[in-house]
Amino acid sequence: MGEVAGDREAMTGFRSVLREYLDERVRPQVSAAEQARRLPWQIVRQLGELGYLSVGLPGEHGGGLGKVGDFVLIEELARVWGSLAMAVMSSAIIPARLCLESGSTGLWERHGQRAARGEVPAAFALTEMDAGSDAGALVTVAEAAPGGGWRLNGHKAYVTCGADAGFGIVGAKLESPDAREIGLFLVAGNPMPWRVSRRHDMDCHRAVDVVDVALSGVKVDAAARLDSEHKNIWRSLAGERILSTALAVGLAQGALDAGTRYASQRHQFGRPIGSFGEILRMLADSEAEVSAARALGMQAAVDWDAGDHGALGPSRAKLFATEVAVRVTERAQHVHGGYGQMSEFDVGRFARDARMGPVGGGVSEIQARIVARAIGLPVPGRPGGRPGRDRRLPGAGGRKIT
Ligand SMILES: Cc1cc2nc3c(=O)[nH]c(=O)nc-3n(C[C@H](O)[C@H](O)[C@H](O)COP(=O)(O)OP(=O)(O)OC[C@H]3O[C@@H](n4cnc5c(N)ncnc54)[C@H](O)[C@@H]3O)c2cc1C
Repeated sequence: MGEVAGDREAMTGFRSVLREYLDERVRPQVSAAEQARRLPWQIVRQLGELGYLSVGLPGEHGGGLGKVGDFVLIEELARVWGSLAMAVMSSAIIPARLCLESGSTGLWERHGQRAARGEVPAAFALTEMDAGSDAGALVTVAEAAPGGGWRLNGHKAYVTCGADAGFGIVGAKLESPDAREIGLFLVAGNPMPWRVSRRHDMDCHRAVDVVDVALSGVKVDAAARLDSEHKNIWRSLAGERILSTALAVGLAQGALDAGTRYASQRHQFGRPIGSFGEILRMLADSEAEVSAARALGMQAAVDWDAGDHGALGPSRAKLFATEVAVRVTERAQHVHGGYGQMSEFDVGRFARDARMGPVGGGVSEIQARIVARAIGLPVPGRPGGRPGRDRRLPGAGGRKIT
């Protein structure tokens, strides 16, 4: 009990120190960076130097606040700047954790901890042009190389922070595109051994670079394979959904704060617009929905830290929170009237970034399938079976969903 109260105190302290830092040091840089479509990496590096990026890692490597700590970090970043939250999540938190959880000291020391310190952007490359929601359909292949190690061939799509990455974690089929097993391989180098084949011009998260990359005969040594167990990739995707939930909650909260402020200050018909029933109802509903989304996400994070790494909690939270964020940010934009369409107001940026939520890291339709399967609906699997299906009901060691 005392431990829980202590954890809560640590978390509240972390949230308030981080919030103050972001409001003072980062918020003033957002508008110019979004317009320039460039995220100054120095900001991420400073977050790393201050220990914020490693807050969720175990005590010997970071702040020991677990997935709940990562949730607070990503939520608070997104409340100020969605692009920064997305970059930190994709290029620091996820790759660092994958390196640490691989159990290989070499991968952690040479690569993972550099990502956790914000020294170098990293990337996670799973999606391919013909393998999006159906990740099991990917055709990038890792073949055993003569003399040891692996040789990677294929194309990866939508790699966040892929252009400047110091290392990337690549999902590839073992030996053949028809194989069931997907391995994760760490690809590193200066310059990176992958070739950027396309740069995307995005409507959302405009300061982040998202690229496609080609891997042609990229040789990695045997120790570059991160997962000894092929289940790790599905577990990692479930963990990512908790962070996507946090990002959605942060965007929604940022927009709600902006809408509330505007509705209190803007007068029409001699009254603040926030006193009109329609406006106050929109904002009150938004407050309730954001709180509910945060509670679902936090619950998934708490369960995760308690050892429940099943898919249901993260999928349920992501499904709900990302769709809440779309509604809440659109309402906040509407509350701003014409100003909501002007780039000098943040609220349009929140709405643009929120639209990515129901797509990135697994579309809403796939999250709904996972939830539907968990409640017992007869959801068909992937034709030919889905590799590595291991979904569990909540509660550590919960029963498997087949
Ligand atoms: C800005 C951005 C950054 C990204 N960053 C990364 C990254 O760093 N690393 C990475 O690996 N990937 C990344 N992605 C990829 C992202 O995870 C995929 O876009 C997402 O998984 C969806 O895949 P898709 O775009 O191919 O859509 P598709 O899977 O082709 O879906 C298209 C439509 O079909 C629907 N659909 C698909 N399957 C079903 C089904 N079974 N039932 C019902 N409807 C279905 C979807 O809901 C959607 O509406 C990024 C994407 C974007 C846009």
